[in-house]
Amino acid sequence: MRRFRYRCTICRTTSPVVHELADLAAESEVHRQTIHGGHIPDDEMAGQIDRLGRWYATLPPLAALYSRIADALSDLRDLKTMGHYWWASAGATLLIGGTAALALLLAATFL
Ligand SMILES: [Zn+2]
Repeated sequence: MRRFRYRCTICRTTSPVVHELADLAAESEVHRQTIHGGHIPDDEMAGQIDRLGRWYATLPPLAALYSRIADALSDLRDLKTMGHYWWASAGATLLIGGTAALALLLAATFL
């Protein structure tokens, strides 16, 4: 399940979470038309967010990977809620840590 938000940095407001790109476009368009007369606010932000409400585009690569894995695991339990389940966070940590350990082991074996 993908989640999106629109943020106007001029008004310092953030839209509710929407699940479709068309709904995100509608949120931003309605805000621009009603509040700013159709103008596009400087530094506005819009895009896909994780279950913690952070924009994926603003996360460092490893944190974005962790968040995508934890999001996918949490979505197995419940698609509509926000936040990570503790077992999803642990699973993402173990998966990334295990992959790094395996890569180190293989590198040490063949070097
Ligand atoms: Zn605004």
